[in-house]
This record gives sequence, structure tokens and C-alpha cells, in this order.
Amino acid sequence: TEVLVIDGTGRGHAVCDLFVRTNPAVTVYYGPGCDALTADRIVTVPGIRVDDPSTALEFLAEHPVEFVFVSHVDALCAGYTDVLSAHGHKVIGPSAAAAQLEASKERGKRFCAEHGLPTAEYAAFTDADAARAYVRSRPYACVVKTDGLTPDGDGAVVCGTSAEAEAAVDAFAAAQGENLQLVVEERLYGREISVFALLDGEDYLLFPTALDFKRTLEGDAGKNCDGMGSLAPHPQSSPALLEQIRRDLVEPFLHGLAAEELSYTGFVYIGAMITDSGLKVIEINTRFGDSEAEAVLPGVHSDFTELCRAVLRQDLSRSLLVTDGLVRCSVALTQGCLDPADPTAAPGWPFGAFATGRPVLGLEESPHDPTRLFYANLRADADGHPVTSGGRVLHVVGAGRTLDEARTHAYRRIEGISFRGMRHRTDIGAAFTAGSPL
Ligand code: ATP
Repeated sequence: TEVLVIDGTGRGHAVCDLFVRTNPAVTVYYGPGCDALTADRIVTVPGIRVDDPSTALEFLAEHPVEFVFVSHVDALCAGYTDVLSAHGHKVIGPSAAAAQLEASKERGKRFCAEHGLPTAEYAAFTDADAARAYVRSRPYACVVKTDGLTPDGDGAVVCGTSAEAEAAVDAFAAAQGENLQLVVEERLYGREISVFALLDGEDYLLFPTALDFKRTLEGDAGKNCDGMGSLAPHPQSSPALLEQIRRDLVEPFLHGLAAEELSYTGFVYIGAMITDSGLKVIEINTRFGDSEAEAVLPGVHSDFTELCRAVLRQDLSRSLLVTDGLVRCSVALTQGCLDPADPTAAPGWPFGAFATGRPVLGLEESPHDPTRLFYANLRADADGHPVTSGGRVLHVVGAGRTLDEARTHAYRRIEGISFRGMRHRTDIGAAFTAGSPL
């Protein structure tokens, strides 16, 4: 059978890989995909655009598929699910209306508040003076967020003092002017956890949890970015925590969808904080995490095509998720400064200007390698060789029975990969290895 995946990130590659790895009879069309990818049974369709469902309709007119799996939020917001379903295609993915739960932070927070998902106290603003006054009136530290999607995942400023929060309001106000839309919320303390569930519109199947490393620099320093790496499962994952996740997060989320009659199939990713007073939602995302997908999905052994069929039939409640039980450590290799030889050069992605088009060496995979590579911003040059084309270039994922083993595999593999200006965090998961204090 043939399916179409709409994405073009490392996550998209991990989703395509999941389809073909767990079912020998599936071919995946991947649009826009990644033209540097040469995997068996994954066919890149560069003519498909994430922001334009009509490009997929044109493709589907020539190449009918069993169903379409939409896993990029820009595609969801562009109405992919709605448009393709209206044309009679089977589609997995939330509607554009449901994708607003991610695309607008105010919408996501309001949904949580109205449907009993625990979350930090918050208020939304379109006026900078009012936001500043609110920040000053709070007895706690605040996080200032811009309401909409940001390209590099840096739309939230976690502040320690009200002066910092006011400065963050000023910075957003200067950048957005008349169109200012902010959410200010109480700063939570604890460890974050990424929760994933596959939804069929009525029921859900919980996927393994993950821990995402969002900070750009070693030691969790620097600003937030799309993610520099992930561990799966989350180091604190336990049957008791999973029970809380079901009861406090996923089930209220499903009830909220039903109450608001939102049409939703596919993955939900609930970003939460494990606090002293239980789990608190930080954000709702309407697709799998990118950096987490690379660590979670390779461990899934259930036939994903069958799971998708169950989603489409709405009988996911009878499905089971089989995983290999290994620990995975995923590390993002990013395009650093323009000129690594020049110490005064720009620091590169995600801080400022960075180069593209740099040849990437060492991507050959061998059959018994305990690591996997997932391509993000890689493209093929005129000779078909892979070159960098964006900030996060690829993700290297090590697997093992222990985290130490998984990390060793990932970092050993990274030693064999190179491109000019390559930068990655060397401490993904280091704090959780045997002997490290938690
Ligand atoms: P992303 O693109 O990574 O999803 P975003 O711009 O959508 O980020 P959020 O996910 O809401 O914004 O916040 C980004 C990060 O900021 C969170 O992962 C978390 O590390 C931190 N953060 C957000 N809200 C809070 C909070 N209330 N307390 C403490 N930290 C927070």
C-alpha cells in the first residue's frame, strides 16, 4: 500500500521510517520531504508544499494513496486535514480549528483552563502597558510568550524577576508593534516531560514519554530553541507517572475536544512540567515533537500502518503499542557560525546568521550500526551530495539497554560526521547517567 506523509523535518523522516520499518508492504510518499534522503520505500515529493494543500491534491490526483498523515503544524494550520478530507481523501491529523490549540498560546491556555487540565495561572494581552502592570502585580516570577508560532521555537522568555519580564514585554512590543499578542504566565519549577498520544477522535494510545533539551548551549544555558536533543523514555517515567499522565492530562484533553466538538485524529504532544504539586501543562502541540520523535519512534515495533487504519476506523481502543524497551538518546547537529575559524564571527543558528550549502560527510549507514540518522535541513546539491540547508541539519540517535550505552553510541557516531561550522551539545542526557546526581 502507499501512504503520503506531509512534513519535511527530522520528525517527518522518523515518521516515514516508522511506516516502512514496521510494515514491509508500505511505500511512503514524503512531501515536501528531503531530497537528500535515499531510503528504501521513502519517496520524496518536493512539489508538495507544507503551506498549500492544493499541491498535495495535485499529487494525489496522479498518485492515489490509502491515507495521508499530516505531521507538520504549518500544514495543519494551512487546513491540510480539512481540505484533503473535503476532497474525499482519508487523512490523519487535527483540523485547522484544532491546530489553533498549538498555533495560539492564548487558545491553548484557555482550553486547559476550561477543561480542567492543570496549568500555570496566566493572562493574555494586546497592550504592553497592561502586560507590564500585570507582571509587576504578580507575586511570582513570570514567563512572557508571544501568542503565535515562531520559526525557531524561541517565543517564550523565562524570567527570574519582574524587571526581566518587563524587558521581555518591551522586546516583543518593539518587534510586533500594533500586532502585539502576549501571554504572561506564572513560572513553574520542576523537570519538563513530553507526553505523546495517538488519537482516533474518541480513544487514544499512549506513546513513550521523552525529555527534550530545548536550551541551545551546554549545561542548559542559552536561549530556548527547537530542541538540541532528547531522551526517551523520560528518565522519571514510571507506571505511577503514566497513570497521572492519563488521568490529569490526556483524558481531560480528550473530554475537552469532545465538549468543543473539535475534529482531531493523529498525535497530540502535551508539554508538561513535573512540579511538587503534580503535572502542569506548559503547552499543547498538535503533532509529534521534533527532536522527541527521533528518540521515541525508532523504539516502536507495532505496525504503524495498522495503527493508522485503526485510527481511521475509530477503534484504536483495541490496539496495543509494542516497543523494544530500549533507551534512546538523540542529538541534533546544527549549523553553527558562518566561519568557525573566526572567533568574532556570528555565533550561527539559532542566534544569528549561519551558512548553508556546506557538504556533510559521514552519513553512510551500516546494517548493524546501533545508531540511526534522521535528516532535517539537508538537501542534495547538483551532484546529489548532501549539504546543509538550515539550522538543525540532522539528528543522531543512539540506542542501548542503558542511557550510558545509548549516549556512547550516539556520540561515537557523531565523531564520524562532519560539516564546516557543525555544532551540537555534548551533554544531552549526561545528568541522568549512572552516578550523576538527579
Ligand atoms: P516550542 O516551540 O519549543 O514549543 P514555544 O515558543 O511554543 O516553544 P512554550 O513551549 O510555551 O513556547 O515554552 C517554551 C519553553 O519555555 C518550555 O519548553 C519551557 O522550557 C519554558 N516554559 C514555558 N512556560 C513555562 C512556565 N510556565 N514555567 C517555566 N518554564 C516555562
